[in-house]
Amino acid sequence: MGAISPSTGRTLPDRYIEGTCPICGYDSARGDQCDNCGNQLDPIDLVNPRSKINGETPRFVETEHFFLDLPAFAQALGKWLDTREGWRPNVLRFSKNLLDDLQPRAITRDLEWGVPIPLEGWRDRSDKRIYVWFDAVIGYLSASIEWARRSGDPEAWRRWWEADGAGKDARGYYFMGKDNIVFHSVIWPSLLLGYSGEGDRGGEPGDLGRLNLPTEVVSSEFLTMEGRKFSSSRQVVIYVRDFLDRYDADALRYFIAVAGPESQDTDFTWAEFLRRNNDELVAGWGNLVNRSVSMAAKNFGAIPPAGPLTDEDRALLETAKAGFAQVGGLIEKHRQKQAISEAMRVVGEANKYLSDQAPWKMKDDPERMGTVLHVALQAVSDCNTLLTPFLPHSAQRVHELLGGTGVHAPMPSIVEVEDLDGGPSYPILTGDYTVGARWESVPIEAGRSLATPKPVFRKLDPSIVDEELARLDPRE
Ligand SMILES: [Zn+2]
Repeated sequence: MGAISPSTGRTLPDRYIEGTCPICGYDSARGDQCDNCGNQLDPIDLVNPRSKINGETPRFVETEHFFLDLPAFAQALGKWLDTREGWRPNVLRFSKNLLDDLQPRAITRDLEWGVPIPLEGWRDRSDKRIYVWFDAVIGYLSASIEWARRSGDPEAWRRWWEADGAGKDARGYYFMGKDNIVFHSVIWPSLLLGYSGEGDRGGEPGDLGRLNLPTEVVSSEFLTMEGRKFSSSRQVVIYVRDFLDRYDADALRYFIAVAGPESQDTDFTWAEFLRRNNDELVAGWGNLVNRSVSMAAKNFGAIPPAGPLTDEDRALLETAKAGFAQVGGLIEKHRQKQAISEAMRVVGEANKYLSDQAPWKMKDDPERMGTVLHVALQAVSDCNTLLTPFLPHSAQRVHELLGGTGVHAPMPSIVEVEDLDGGPSYPILTGDYTVGARWESVPIEAGRSLATPKPVFRKLDPSIVDEELARLDPRE
């Protein structure tokens, strides 16, 4: 049964229908999903459904669709989830709970826009399309195949996907917010299992062979803002473009990494954003970069050579070097919060070293002053690499302040490309990640010239808090 608007006679897309969740009773569940319990829904499942466009009750009419037989995969999904190790406990628990109420789900919709159904007799129909949440996840595989064709090695996708061949040791990590878990721990694995000939209905693998299921679904929890749920209609919202007009990308990246909803719901407040930016990013990391580079530039004009090392010098160099295994290990386990905190702990050690050694008091012992600054700059260089995954924009600038050239932190870009099969051109997101920093301590070069730095991070005025709160709800 498909939803139609009685007043226009047109199909009502799922997201334009709201009603009460039949599973948990939440009264603002959407036609495709309940944000409260996370279950996937069809519009006809809703109790008291209503159109979000004009409030009318949709009419349900019989229509013809293809369905994915999810219950046929319940057992195989359960077995697969039982073998998962190292997932965030909340994600695994949530995924297993979804298996308790699996229903067959329509994989197509009555729409004119979208991907046509690639089957004889359906391909040319203008009124039926693949449901976006199915073609979105299939896109992980199809985009890999397209990428391989563009790379000049059309078989290269197999290194990530082929379960019995080139990709048997590949690991696949999927990053998302928790409202997308169902599509990645139930829908996409079911499609992959079915394609691989598994599940209660059995069968033979498709032409591509058996395919890899996700190694891990990495999901965060919800972020609220000033204690309220984000809602564009209620103006509880920060648009990324507006944010970037006023603040630096790394200031937001820092906040999300260090205080984001990694394993529990957390709250974004402008006061906390200000504090994190000014007290940690500017006064901690920015200050370390600034005072060590300026002092070396002013007194030596270049990275000074190191003379004999003291125990304190060696201790800081060891701490910085050890950061790579520690921070790297935490990133590998998706403990981003702990990882950036560990990197910032090394920053704190370096700041303490500078304060204890006080090189500004060593005007009459330039060799020792040079050694201290050399050690501090080596720590800056190492900390910069440790922070690069979190703060790529400022990492590039710090790399240049240290006299480095070329790309330190490669960035993705959007490139317009020709369609490989002769269709219209379209944009793809791509990047060259073969260049840039490696995850290791690289010795800095004495004699490399340094310029007096400009501050890498901007200190924010406390008045932004009230300004932003006023913007948040202009009616109050
Ligand atoms: Zn619900």
